[in-house]
Amino acid sequence: MTEAAPKISFVSLGCPKALVDSERIITRLRAEGYELTRSHAGADAVIVNTCGFLDSAKQESLAAIGSALKENGKVIVTGCMGAEREDIDAAFPAALTPNLLAITGPQAYESVLDAVHKALPAPHDPFVDLVPPQGVKLTPRHYAYLKISEGCNNRCSFCIIPKLRGDLVSRPAGEVLREAEKLLKAGVKELLVISQDTSAYGVDVKYAESAFGDRQVRTKFLDLARELGDLGAWVRLHYVYPYPHVDDVIELMSAGKVLPYLDIPFQHASPSVLKAMKRPGNQEKTLDRVKAWRQACPDLAIRSTFIVGFPGETEEDFEMLLDWLTEAKLDRVGAFKYEPVRGAVANDLGLPLVPDEVKESRYRRFMERQQGISARILKGKIGKRLPVIIDEAGPTVAKGRTKADAPEIDGAVHVFSRRPLRVGEIVTVKIEKADAYDIHGVAV
Ligand code: SF4
Repeated sequence: MTEAAPKISFVSLGCPKALVDSERIITRLRAEGYELTRSHAGADAVIVNTCGFLDSAKQESLAAIGSALKENGKVIVTGCMGAEREDIDAAFPAALTPNLLAITGPQAYESVLDAVHKALPAPHDPFVDLVPPQGVKLTPRHYAYLKISEGCNNRCSFCIIPKLRGDLVSRPAGEVLREAEKLLKAGVKELLVISQDTSAYGVDVKYAESAFGDRQVRTKFLDLARELGDLGAWVRLHYVYPYPHVDDVIELMSAGKVLPYLDIPFQHASPSVLKAMKRPGNQEKTLDRVKAWRQACPDLAIRSTFIVGFPGETEEDFEMLLDWLTEAKLDRVGAFKYEPVRGAVANDLGLPLVPDEVKESRYRRFMERQQGISARILKGKIGKRLPVIIDEAGPTVAKGRTKADAPEIDGAVHVFSRRPLRVGEIVTVKIEKADAYDIHGVAV
């Protein structure tokens, strides 16, 4: 007779990279026969994958640990916050919380599994051990994140990720491509390529070749993008920096091999702020680059994020950013108000801090400026027929995304259809209406 499998409840916080870590841990747990459950109450233990990027994310992580302890008791903590554990120790002192079983850092898969094994020995049952070969995905089946590297060689002054995750370590291209193939076989239609710095892929291994099928593929951004494009799915590139070799990838976009979409965190436009931020890439000529890319690939959609209120940002710097935004006409933009993350070099630059109310008003002005730009871009889509991938489907209405929209972060297309649509299906939609963030249309 089979003994009941221990049940684990899993909380995954943070960015897509943390999500990929969660998927790996969950895949291993399922492979070993553990079951997953949605509620802490019915679980034998809880794993919390934390995010420590901003203080607000840390607070969210501490709250998640607190409720797991309250609702369940046995808790294992992993992720970015585990790498600098003082805040966790302060909130949950070991003497008072013996049920906080282990605290490990990001990508510490083995330590997490060791802690689980210690608390809840795995049942040995080959029938429970069944795991789909592509692993367990936390994203819907039709799209998946593909993590190509860990860590980062840059040292942006506001960021502690290199401290937490170390320098760049690229996965061999062959390994990434085999994972992509498995995902597509399992029904994935869209691959979202992620890392801390996608365009730096392979620098650490000097672009070494690795085997994929009967050929050798270089561990290089362009080569990987080309090979992924050949697999036939939608391929979306995130966290790309405007290095010169990005121009070659734009050619793949014009040729329809990878999606005409670039997620580039520009962060600012004023040279003095960018310098203080120690941003990689030649940031000063980015407007020219953006224009050249658009000339080569007119359908290109660019998404970016910016920080307002960085220490030393003057009104003049900020105005420069607004002007840049007006000229760049980016499709999708997110903004953060600068937060002094503990351990970040930016706190020690000796630059004057921007008062909170100024940060707040700059944030508002920034978002207002971009809203007008996005609205105009979306209005320009009215009358077009665009391919849309369906994320949620009802009998006559569905929600999806065009090639210009990444899941979770960009807008949506609300689709009316005479026939029921399936999740993951790519349909042509005639766009009829647009608002500030979303567009609406009819499946044709
Ligand atoms: S590129 Fe900069 S912001 Fe991004 S992870 Fe590396 S150091 Fe941090």
